[in-house]
Amino acid sequence: MTDTPRLRFAPSPTGYLHVGGARTALFNWLYARKVGGQFLLRVEDTDKARSTDESTAAIFEGLRWLGLDWDEEVVYQGSHEARHAADARRLLASGHAYCDFTTQAELQAQRAAVEAKGPGHAFRVDRAKVDLPKADVEARLARGEPYAIRFRVPDGTTEWKDLVHERIAFPNKDIEDFIILRSDGSPVYNLAVVSDDIAMRITLVMRGDDHISNTPKQILLYRALGAALPTFAHLPMIHGTDGKKLSKRHGATAVADWQHVGILPSAMCNFLALLGWSPGGDIEVMLHEELIARFDTAGLLKKAAVFDPKKLEWMNGQHLSRLPMTEVALRVRPALIAAGLVSDAEFESRHEWIVKLLDLLRVRARTIDDIVRQATPYLREEIAYDPDAVAKQWKDRASTAELLTAARGAIDAMPAWTVDAMEASLRALAESKGIQAGKIFQPLRVALTGLGVSPGIFEVLDLLGKERSLRRIDTAISLLI
Ligand code: GLU
Repeated sequence: MTDTPRLRFAPSPTGYLHVGGARTALFNWLYARKVGGQFLLRVEDTDKARSTDESTAAIFEGLRWLGLDWDEEVVYQGSHEARHAADARRLLASGHAYCDFTTQAELQAQRAAVEAKGPGHAFRVDRAKVDLPKADVEARLARGEPYAIRFRVPDGTTEWKDLVHERIAFPNKDIEDFIILRSDGSPVYNLAVVSDDIAMRITLVMRGDDHISNTPKQILLYRALGAALPTFAHLPMIHGTDGKKLSKRHGATAVADWQHVGILPSAMCNFLALLGWSPGGDIEVMLHEELIARFDTAGLLKKAAVFDPKKLEWMNGQHLSRLPMTEVALRVRPALIAAGLVSDAEFESRHEWIVKLLDLLRVRARTIDDIVRQATPYLREEIAYDPDAVAKQWKDRASTAELLTAARGAIDAMPAWTVDAMEASLRALAESKGIQAGKIFQPLRVALTGLGVSPGIFEVLDLLGKERSLRRIDTAISLLI
């Protein structure tokens, strides 16, 4: 046995990596990394009809993108069915389970008969009828009758000290004897999970609240199998801003969707980390290292967490402005290339200029897509004028044309192409006209970028260069008169 904490993320590969799953993975990863433990990955692919390789690949891809690396080889639950069945048979041999020869048709008829009695009548397996005398069982086995293996739930109460909820207790009388191995030899979910968690020597099971009702059954299985119990931590559900369980109605719920709209992995992790955990104090913005350093099970919350896309965007903006420029450039590069704004080769040859541009744009951007949008006028020869910006800043066409003409003159006559020279001459121009500098800068910004928002006007001029700036002002003037 080892004392090293061992945690796992155990997704069912039946779809994409959902933000809820990603949150579970992240918390397990953070804790494992914090305490120097192991973070394992188990693909729960026993539902053959619904599990797909594409889904498994999408989950791996999502985890990689988030930066959640796992230890050891991935465990595929479906490859361990022999062990699951052996564990079920062990429970049968030790008397913790019994054979159930009820056929599907019989079970359905029994259920229908009880349900026909009306609401309030729920079908429940009657052990007295199902758990047959030994001789009976032997005779049926000798005839080769198919059977399922059903767990014999003992009397008493099953309780545990949950890391999030403190004490949780279930009276065993509320848990019916449950099947652990179907008559076709396939394991039932709770057995497979426990068998695998024991084999993988998992010490802390951290997963969503929706698994709380499985936990007493799993604890009973651990005990019956003579295995040490892991610690359990059940994380709160994630709701939409309307307080309802997060679903597609609330917008994107796949990690990949957020990736594709320009959310940074570090921002996504930071945002997810705060869904059900609080570092205490006012700290909110944290990169991976800081999340690891601060993560603590004492900060896990009970209350449902709210997935607010606005907060995610805000968080992304915070990360965009804090990450090292090399990281920002790395993330924005594919988006610029995909938008056809630069080629791979241009990104290399103009690297310094592009990094300067991105560094100026990132402070006003919330997403990578924002940066791409804002970068467009600097990377394309032709610019598109934002109708709102034009309506607002070029209201009076004649006087705007006149101002732009004067600004053009001042820019053309600048003794040097420096921010100081630009500032001196444009401010002097405003003064000579008896107007505020902004009255020149705003229409000029629209002329230079087509947009109402941009970095400081001198920085814009500097980025565009003299020739291009003059050309754009000329175009604007010709459009205005
Ligand atoms: N495969 C289960 C799920 O995706 C998780 C099982 C567990 O964490 O115990 O919900």
